[in-house]
Amino acid sequence: MRIARFTAGEDPQYGVVAGDLDQYGQPDEDAVVVALAGDPLYVGVKLLEQEHRLADVRLLAPVLPRSKVVGIGRNYAAHAAELGNDVPAEPLMFLKPNTSVVGPGDPIFYPPQTSNLQYEGELAVVIGRICRDVPPEQATDVIHGYTIANDVTARDLQKSDVQFTRAKGFDSFCPLGPWIETDLDPDDFAKGRRVQTHLNGDVVQDGTTADLIFDIPTLIAHVSSVMTLLPGDLILTGTPAGVGPMEVGDEVEVSIEGLGSLTNPVAAR
Ligand code: MG
Repeated sequence: MRIARFTAGEDPQYGVVAGDLDQYGQPDEDAVVVALAGDPLYVGVKLLEQEHRLADVRLLAPVLPRSKVVGIGRNYAAHAAELGNDVPAEPLMFLKPNTSVVGPGDPIFYPPQTSNLQYEGELAVVIGRICRDVPPEQATDVIHGYTIANDVTARDLQKSDVQFTRAKGFDSFCPLGPWIETDLDPDDFAKGRRVQTHLNGDVVQDGTTADLIFDIPTLIAHVSSVMTLLPGDLILTGTPAGVGPMEVGDEVEVSIEGLGSLTNPVAAR
């Protein structure tokens, strides 16, 4: 099931997207979104007799993280190498504030404090229930679903600050979407799902989730051994090689096989 958050011109609602995706992850013309009563994270999936053409609504970030977005750094060997870093011995964690989240089509604002704004296309895991100290073999029980994230980073500030908070934390630095896919599981990603980023139509990242150094169950176990996870919290699983700069006026698209694609323009702040 694909769970989206959308507006048809009025208050945001949740809905289930029905229709096939093409090979590029784009829904077909006839795709519809069936509205839900309330937030399915808290009240389950309750379909309403209310349906819109997907083309007629505006999709919003499919989840509002209740407390946090946990980022994982250097979780693909080729990406660690391209920035001159070793592969970490255990998952490298950082936080992005939930105020950094924006939705499909929303602008990524280029802050005046940086001169090196970069994209990082990533698979994001959405947590479905309150949990801590989750054993890897029970990780699937706490997963609500999967979506696509762009872990936007001010690379110069990341280097100069040591702490990642400012470099990863500006408003609009966590585009999410287009929806949450609930029917996949960690094995699907361990087997390999293609992760691609296009900048103005050119392929700039082309990786596979089979290359994750620490897999999804390991990440959930590791993060939840440190902090309690709440429904709607996110774990961004790291980015493949090919990170690079974006400029005002660019358009960045992250796509993951089976999940769809997430496109955002870059705008001056
Ligand atoms: Mg990242």
